Order: sequence, then structure tokens, then C-alpha cells
Amino acid sequence: MVFDVEELEKFRSSGKILCEAREEMRSYVKANMQVIDVCEKAETLIREKGGIPAFPCNVSINEVAAHYTSPPEDKSVIPEGSTVKVDIGVQIDGYVTDTAFTVSFNSEGRSMTATAEHALKAVIESIHNDMSIGRIGGIIETAIKNQGFKPISNLSGHSVGRYLIHAGISIPNVATLATNKVHTGEVFAVEPFVTQPDAIARVDDSPQNTIFRLVRAKSVRTVYAKQMLKHIETHFKTLPFAERWLIGVVPQNQQDEAFKELLKQKIITSYPVFIEASKKPVAQAEHTLLIKENGCEVLT
Ligand code: MN
Ligand code: MN
Repeated sequence: MVFDVEELEKFRSSGKILCEAREEMRSYVKANMQVIDVCEKAETLIREKGGIPAFPCNVSINEVAAHYTSPPEDKSVIPEGSTVKVDIGVQIDGYVTDTAFTVSFNSEGRSMTATAEHALKAVIESIHNDMSIGRIGGIIETAIKNQGFKPISNLSGHSVGRYLIHAGISIPNVATLATNKVHTGEVFAVEPFVTQPDAIARVDDSPQNTIFRLVRAKSVRTVYAKQMLKHIETHFKTLPFAERWLIGVVPQNQQDEAFKELLKQKIITSYPVFIEASKKPVAQAEHTLLIKENGCEVLT
């Protein structure tokens, strides 16, 4: 997907807001904080700066690699000595930017974090028009292995589009034979995930689901499910959302039932929380990049 000048300006505004929010969050996250406070702080910062969160703030701790956001009334706390990934996104008129950082409260976690950032930097410094996605994966894999760690092999970056976080093309974190290429004017999120050298270095789906997305709107039985669906269609469209974001949309005593009906009717679907298969800690770094003829522009 190649974007025109006007669309790229929207990506740039989106990325600027997201960059500011990320840097403020980097110094905000501390051990013993409630996870829900971190999620809400990030989402509030984005809104205060004039953006709309493109997806719920993900706070994924230790072996949880991705896709955890606080459910309503979440009581979980950031443990001492943990490794915490914060992944946030902004949309402006649907144009999505996506970024992540890791804060670690232990020394190996800090090395893994530096490694994820180093691998991302290696891509930023070498990516250009017509580079194959398999080669990008190779750059990430080499950068991570040279530091003595492993990339998570089944998590990847992705093309982004309008109201689409994942617009169809994956950017692997390991070398592959994929020959399709990135092109000038396309926008990609690149996100190396790093784990320990003795880890399986893959993620599995956990049974937990905290992030949801509209699949198809169709008629629903109850008035409250209908009301909730209308809110989702209007405010989130095809972008991911958290159950927290629906509080107050229907009377509180109807919220659970309405939400369950949308899930049961397969009107909304969920993203499973991803856990590293050998329960080893994971670090992540992420930027959204606009591909240029001889390089890239970091939008975030
Ligand atoms: Mn992300
Ligand atoms: Mn991403």
C-alpha cells in the first residue's frame, strides 16, 4: 500500500504524538505500579496530545510477550525485578502508527532490551526501497544473535494501513526465504522481540484474552448488545479495543451479558495473550517506518 502526500502527513502527525507519549511513558513505568494505571496513563496522554489510541496500551510482563492489556478492575501489579514491554499506537483519521519500548528492573533484562533496540537500529540504518522482507528478518536475527540472545521466531512486524494495524505483509524477526519486497511510500512497523539463549524462542497462545476487535456487524438479540455494537462500530471500527473502553456504554449490570453476546455471535473476536513457550522473559522494541528510495523515515 503506497500512500499519497496528504496521507503521509496524517501518519507523521500520528507518529509525533506517539513518540512524545512513548518518551513520557518510558520514565513513568516503575515496579509496584498497577498495570491498569500504566494502560490508562498512556491512553490518556495520547488523547491529551490530540491522538486517538489505535489499540489498547499493551503492558506485557516477563514471559508474556504481547497482547496483554488490563481487563476492567485489573488488580495486577508490575513485579520488582521484572521486564515490562509497553506497546502503544495512535491513529489520526485511521492512519496508524505503532511503537513499543521495554523497561527492565534486572540486568539481563536490560541487556535484552538493549539488544532489541540494537536490532531495530540495524534495520533503520539499512532498510530501503526494494529490500526483501526475508533479508530484513536476517538483519534482525543476526543483530540479536551477535549479542548472545535469540529472536522470537513466530512474532513479526507488519505493514500498516488505514484503520488497519496489520495490513497484510509480515516482517519476520528471523531470516526467511521470503522474496517480497518493501517499497518507497509504504509504511511498516518493525518490532524485534528478544529472549534468552536457552529459550524455545517461540510464543504460544495463552487462554487469556484482553484485546478484542469487530469482525462483522450483524443483528443481535438484545437492546444492550445492539447498543454496545453500535458504539464499537462508531468508535473503534476495525481497530482493536479493550473491554475497559466499553464501561458506561450500557448499564453496568448489563455490560457482561452484552459483551458475552457479541463474542458468542462472533461479532467480535479476541486476540490471545502470547506467552514465550519456555516461560523465559522477552524484551521488545518497535518503530513505525516510512520506506524511502535510499533509506527510511522513522515516524515514531
Ligand atoms: Mn506494537
Ligand atoms: Mn506492531
